[in-house]
Amino acid sequence: MIVDDERPDMSLDLDFDCPRCKGPASESFYGPCSSCRRELSLLGGDKRDVRAAEYEPKMNVTPNQVATKE
Ligand SMILES: [Zn+2]
Repeated sequence: MIVDDERPDMSLDLDFDCPRCKGPASESFYGPCSSCRRELSLLGGDKRDVRAAEYEPKMNVTPNQVATKE
């Protein structure tokens, strides 16, 4: 009698550390864990706001270049 369930091969999910929350995750594919994916899907509409915020620090680059000219 063969019991395939005892062989953790293809049927089992991958065990890894979630790249987002660094917590232990067990998913079919490497990536954010299920709880993170849930957060990401809820935050889906906020991604543009995050990108917009990234542009602000760039304004600090100009003063630095002026200071370098001295
Ligand atoms: Zn996570």
